[in-house]
Amino acid sequence: MNTTSTVDTAQRARAVIPGGVNSGQRSLPDWPDLVVTQAQGARIVDGEGRSYTDYHAAFGPPLLGHNAPEVTAAVAAAGQRLDLCGVGVSSYEVELAETLAELVPSIEKVLLTSTGSEATFHALRLARAVTGRRLVVKFQGCYHGWHDSVSLNVISSPDRIGSPDPISAGILPEVLAATLVLPFNDVNAVHRAFAEHGDDIAAVILEPVPHNIGCVLPDQEFLSTLRRETERHGSVLVFDEVITGFRHALGGWQEISGITPDLTTLGKAIANGYPLGALGGRADLMEEFSSNPGSPVFFAGTYNGHPAIVSAALATLRILRTAPVHDHVFRLGDRIRTGLAEVMADVGVPAVVTGYGSVFVTYFMEGAPPRSYDDLLRNDAALFVGYRQRLREHGIFELPLNLKRSHVSYAHTDADVDALLEGTRAAVQRARQE
Ligand code: PMP
Repeated sequence: MNTTSTVDTAQRARAVIPGGVNSGQRSLPDWPDLVVTQAQGARIVDGEGRSYTDYHAAFGPPLLGHNAPEVTAAVAAAGQRLDLCGVGVSSYEVELAETLAELVPSIEKVLLTSTGSEATFHALRLARAVTGRRLVVKFQGCYHGWHDSVSLNVISSPDRIGSPDPISAGILPEVLAATLVLPFNDVNAVHRAFAEHGDDIAAVILEPVPHNIGCVLPDQEFLSTLRRETERHGSVLVFDEVITGFRHALGGWQEISGITPDLTTLGKAIANGYPLGALGGRADLMEEFSSNPGSPVFFAGTYNGHPAIVSAALATLRILRTAPVHDHVFRLGDRIRTGLAEVMADVGVPAVVTGYGSVFVTYFMEGAPPRSYDDLLRNDAALFVGYRQRLREHGIFELPLNLKRSHVSYAHTDADVDALLEGTRAAVQRARQE
């Protein structure tokens, strides 16, 4: 495809699709005519036929790499036999539910959705229903999807921290007022919130590792405080493991930390890119959903448990359990983090390179790795974005938007890592001069 047709496609897109893309943060200010034409393994190809090693990874799902052949084949095979029937259950759904109950410590029973947002929505509705309480606690910098109760205080400007900062227009002020926002890793703030509002807190929801602002690792003491306080006050603790689930460990961060929440939400890596979310947890809570006849908490979704999508998850989890995927991505992730820190030191650019396992991010700031969103206000956003824009000239794609994390997949190789480190040396020096 030549440049003209790429521009033409992007223009046609803008004529009929608001902004020309189908989700926020897919349009790049410096590359408005980006059309993606192929994705395979670790590569994506643009409309002009240029190939990039992809570390954006669609915000995280393709842990095995794009279009993993076994996953694609499983989708096709399921389609030969069955499609959506909207009545009863399929053996695929049963197998997946059994697998999730086996892998994820908190999950005794589980329901499937199409997206992570639906999973967190239902988790909070359930928590409010079973507790009869109003308030939800979330943390500054965490993202849990697009619904109203959690659509606030993700990436906030300094003057908006500490007050409700909606990410969207159209949310009722009383809905925003029913969510308390606390700083991550702040044990005292948690104690204060429970001392003041404990009897009215229905749920505490968190990304156990806030990855929507790159990577902030949780203190173990913070997680255990959340567990203790929610238990003491009868609130529901929700781990949103949409990013951490399967990527960091088969049992998610709850397996790594040994802290078991009441409810867990899953998505992204569960089906390597096919649209699947899940909400699971304590059986007594999950039984309150109306999939259980007579139970009061409404739960529905036309596409929930779609056989082809569930087959994608079964194939993905089969590979994650049998192939050395985690060994590979953790080893490459370590190489990347070490190598990037060396390059930054070498060229004299103050940087904090952090991440976990397959996730990595370079913040352009002095000092220690961040412990909360506030720490990231020191990050040089212009250099963060500029460096990534310059990486493209070296055939490397990391999303050029502030604070976004990058991912390495099972399809990436040591040669890809070498190229990333090489490209970084040139790109960061170039970006610094601009
Ligand atoms: N929770 C977390 C932690 C996420 O990162 C996301 C998506 N980025 C969601 C929930 C929402 O998932 P979805 O986009 O599939 O609705």
